[in-house]
Amino acid sequence: MTNDETSAAPIVRPENFRIATVLRSERVTPRMQRVSVQVDDLSRFDCHPRSMGPHVHALIPRGDLDRQEWPTADARGHAVYPPPERRPYVRTYSVRKFDYAENSMDIDFVLHGDEGVASRWAAAARIGEEVGLWRPHARILEAEPKRYVLAGDHTALPAIAFILDRLPQTAAGDLLIMVPDAWEEQALRVPPAMTLTWLHGDASQDLLAPAVLALGAQALRDAYLWVGAEAAISRRIRAFARRECGLPAERAYILNYWKRGMAEGSYDHGE
Ligand SMILES: Cc1cc2nc3c(=O)[nH]c(=O)nc-3n(C[C@H](O)[C@H](O)[C@H](O)COP(=O)(O)OP(=O)(O)OC[C@H]3O[C@@H](n4cnc5c(N)ncnc54)[C@H](O)[C@@H]3O)c2cc1C
Repeated sequence: MTNDETSAAPIVRPENFRIATVLRSERVTPRMQRVSVQVDDLSRFDCHPRSMGPHVHALIPRGDLDRQEWPTADARGHAVYPPPERRPYVRTYSVRKFDYAENSMDIDFVLHGDEGVASRWAAAARIGEEVGLWRPHARILEAEPKRYVLAGDHTALPAIAFILDRLPQTAAGDLLIMVPDAWEEQALRVPPAMTLTWLHGDASQDLLAPAVLALGAQALRDAYLWVGAEAAISRRIRAFARRECGLPAERAYILNYWKRGMAEGSYDHGE
């Protein structure tokens, strides 16, 4: 045995981190790419059944390295990231679907152009390629609300679809979803007492906040409000929910999904 072989310690990864591999990649609609990624044991990524849109921090490989380096764990189990010039990019994505039989998750990426590292990576993702994933987390819905208002732009469509798949058939309320055009609409499981409205507008338009505000303060006061949208739009809705409707924090989950002109990491999600 050589000295090298005796000294090579196994690499230890943080407990909640997995290196996933791309299993499939398909275009769901012209501007949405579904990348199915596989991990060794999906049960370790288990989510509460009433998770309101579980999301992962995905570590997107850098395009300028022959081999991507991933976080390791120190003696206390804490993550140690590679140095900045070899560090993967961190981007937040919802889980569209868990498939426990094949230990996979579907993640739907909006293709918003070349300037986004995650969008660019997803558009060209190859089978077998590696991507890092931190364990999903989500707000849990503790008590069944009288009604739901779920509102989001294109980037929130995967999370809204996930939530709808698990809502009781008796759920009532409003769904407001803004996508660029009719080609980006998707078939969703909508309980009969919920009203779905598709809004068509590109990412520079705010059709969502006016649509939420038009529901009226009275309709929102009884509701559980869930929003995922561009930061300025979320801010408008957040102000309305707090000031006009007096919605308590446990009934309003309004996230900045992205922020115009800024890459993820340079703003907060408003959580
Ligand atoms: C909890 C949570 C869940 C999310 N789930 C999803 C999901 O399931 N699918 C999904 O596609 N996105 C989702 N997002 C949004 C996604 O994280 C951001 O869009 C992210 O910025 C994309 O990273 P990027 O590397 O492509 O672009 P970045 O490098 O972060 O940004 C580069 C540039 O692109 C702009 N940009 C970013 N996103 C968009 C967009 N959608 N349209 C137009 N311009 C944009 C930025 O303003 C910036 O100027 C989620 C965000 C959060 C907080």
